[in-house]
Amino acid sequence: MNEESASNRPIYDLLLKGGLVYDPANGIQGERRDVAVSGRVIAAVEPYINPSLARRVADVSEMIVAPGLIDLHAHFFGYEGTIQPDPLCLSTGVTTAVDAGGSGHLTFDRFNEEVISRSMTRVFALLNISGEGMVGEPEQDLEGMSRDLTAAKIAQRPDLIVGVKVAHYGGPGWEPLDRGVAAAKDTGTFVMVDQTPIASRPMDQMMLKHLEPGDVVTHCYAESKPMTDPQDKVRDYFFKARQRGIQFDVGHGAGSFSWRIAQAAIDQDFPPDTISTDLHRSSYLVNQATMPETMSKMLIAGVSMEDVVEMSTWRSAQKIGHPELGTLSVAGIADVAVLRLAKTHAEDGLGFTDNGSSGNRVRKANQRLEPEITIRGGQVVWDRNGRTRDDWIHTVTQDGRLP
Ligand SMILES: [Zn+2]
Repeated sequence: MNEESASNRPIYDLLLKGGLVYDPANGIQGERRDVAVSGRVIAAVEPYINPSLARRVADVSEMIVAPGLIDLHAHFFGYEGTIQPDPLCLSTGVTTAVDAGGSGHLTFDRFNEEVISRSMTRVFALLNISGEGMVGEPEQDLEGMSRDLTAAKIAQRPDLIVGVKVAHYGGPGWEPLDRGVAAAKDTGTFVMVDQTPIASRPMDQMMLKHLEPGDVVTHCYAESKPMTDPQDKVRDYFFKARQRGIQFDVGHGAGSFSWRIAQAAIDQDFPPDTISTDLHRSSYLVNQATMPETMSKMLIAGVSMEDVVEMSTWRSAQKIGHPELGTLSVAGIADVAVLRLAKTHAEDGLGFTDNGSSGNRVRKANQRLEPEITIRGGQVVWDRNGRTRDDWIHTVTQDGRLP
């Protein structure tokens, strides 16, 4: 069918027109492309698509059109500070999010029933090595941390559980981490670790001896796990760990992102592998730590837009073993984030706060990524300026006439 004969018959449900597409999986890096959606899938990505082929056309000129964002570290279950996924994920371009250790092998089914299965956001889980899940006593109770039961639960639900989380253990030894690493190895997944170093568990030994290639250190720019020394120099063993395949995730949180450390690290060529929020009540209230906000911080620190998008989409998709996500491939699921890079005239018109033991400090800047449209499975679930909607002037009159 040529374009002429098709012009009266729309074949696409929605056309995103004129955006700058970032789709690292397909080698598209900030190029002007039109993106068409049909049903639940991406139907076409082309330099020009005739608008008459679409039932709805959204002008997204000069905006960033990216795969739906993937938040590798968020909290939806397991303690009082967790949040519901949909309000803060879908409204910020996030279509897939990973709960980092809220549930363990004993509590995962309840998490699935109460949260995962009820969410429009696609939610995966990192299973806590502690059978009861996150926070407080379970994460301190070695008896409740079973390699075999954790691996068995992952093997039972590989569709939803993508790895293991080990965090917050206060005891002297390596048992939780070693069991978590083993359970991940047994299941071909990975461990995400949040362990503040103490004298008997130093950071270098953790990354160079206990973790396996592919495992992820989250909160990588936290003051509590300092990547830099007192002279702001990145410690040598972080480079060594990266060389052996350990990966580094932002996990912003309410106490885990230091501008001073992040900027020094990025200046010394130590950007993160993945960008994530550690989204929960405090990280949102204190630092507005959404994905676009955390991505904005990486941009301000000097990471390129190409890399920032890749760290927030394609890299995370590969990390969780879902390469069908994090891309805009034709015929793939239509999860899309349209972001607007808002700029102020003044160099210091906007503020971005950090956290940690030295308090909350602000860094002034003049640009911020704002979530404009989110599409989840072909459905528009967030449209900040009504770009996919008809003009109000077309409202039918009370007696049913079209104006
Ligand atoms: Zn966390």
